[in-house]
Amino acid sequence: MYNFLKMTYFNQNITAWYNQNHRQLPWRKTTDPYKIWISEIILQQTQVKQGLNYYIKFIESFPDIKALATASEQNILKVWQGLGYYSRARNLRKAAQHIYYNMNGRFPSTRNDLLKLSGIGPYTAAAIASIAFNEPYAVVDGNVYRLLSRFYAISTPIDSTQGKKEFKELANHLLDRDNPGTFNQAMMEMGALICTPSNPLCNQCPLASECKSFLTKTTDQFPVKSKKTEKKIRHFNYAIIQINSSLILTRREQGDIWHGLFEPLLIESDKEINDIKLAKLIQQHWPHFNQNITLQTTKKQILTHQIIYAKFFRIVIPEETSIPDMFNSKQLLMVDFDQLKQYPIPRLIDQYFNIDFHP
Ligand code: SF4
Repeated sequence: MYNFLKMTYFNQNITAWYNQNHRQLPWRKTTDPYKIWISEIILQQTQVKQGLNYYIKFIESFPDIKALATASEQNILKVWQGLGYYSRARNLRKAAQHIYYNMNGRFPSTRNDLLKLSGIGPYTAAAIASIAFNEPYAVVDGNVYRLLSRFYAISTPIDSTQGKKEFKELANHLLDRDNPGTFNQAMMEMGALICTPSNPLCNQCPLASECKSFLTKTTDQFPVKSKKTEKKIRHFNYAIIQINSSLILTRREQGDIWHGLFEPLLIESDKEINDIKLAKLIQQHWPHFNQNITLQTTKKQILTHQIIYAKFFRIVIPEETSIPDMFNSKQLLMVDFDQLKQYPIPRLIDQYFNIDFHP
């Protein structure tokens, strides 16, 4: 059992440190639940450094529920482009539409009502409710797991059912019920700035004199995880098909990464294939393209659960070729080079168009 006598020490030190050291961020200067919601969704899986510009751009583009609810999915994904986990953006739109059309545009004001919205789970609901409505719910994100597991030297794996229960219980015991929003933000900020994943700044930490892992020189042993996530390796072979000053794009379908984003025609292979094999595959899929196939570049993108290796092949085809006949059921778009920027595109493909593609 943890030493709950350390609670006061923990709370006082962490809050005093936060009040003096926290970063000045736009979502910390507002109690508008809409803005806090947007920031919390952006900051899931994203560090503040990367998320800040996206937050500013998102709020500029969609300043309120109405603007978000009435925007097209394509526009929202375009603003989100490069941030990854695109289901977050689609869920924001879905939740905004529900609030705008079914709740008279009034943002929910309790954790329980927040939980009914698309894309809001217990963590996000607790964060919004504590920060915007002062409701006493502790948040437990990766930063909090790390901070608590090190401070108390807890060896229960954080990705186990028991671990999740144990850490949630501990965070709720520690929670400052008078200032839950500040307390939650202090925990997360400490984890992000001081108790960092590698090389924590223990010599600047206000908790060091009572931190069990620091005192036993075992900070690198916490937090404990039970499973190592194996990343799935995928090979994407893109055919960049050019007809005059236009390219062919398709929209990615549901049930896979990058749903709703646009990409060139894709052949996915289960292993890396060479140029000759790919040329054959391209001809099998699209017999009209039997000439002028050039490998331009390969790129790699590491996602949380997948590693994507992408090859980009340029194919220039004659103007008179009839496009719709060639592809049967695939929904195709002919997009002029100048219009490419209007389409939400995965980061890897965007890099190809910006760096390697010369019309
Ligand atoms: S002393 Fe070090 S390990 Fe302990 S909470 Fe502070 S930063 Fe983390």
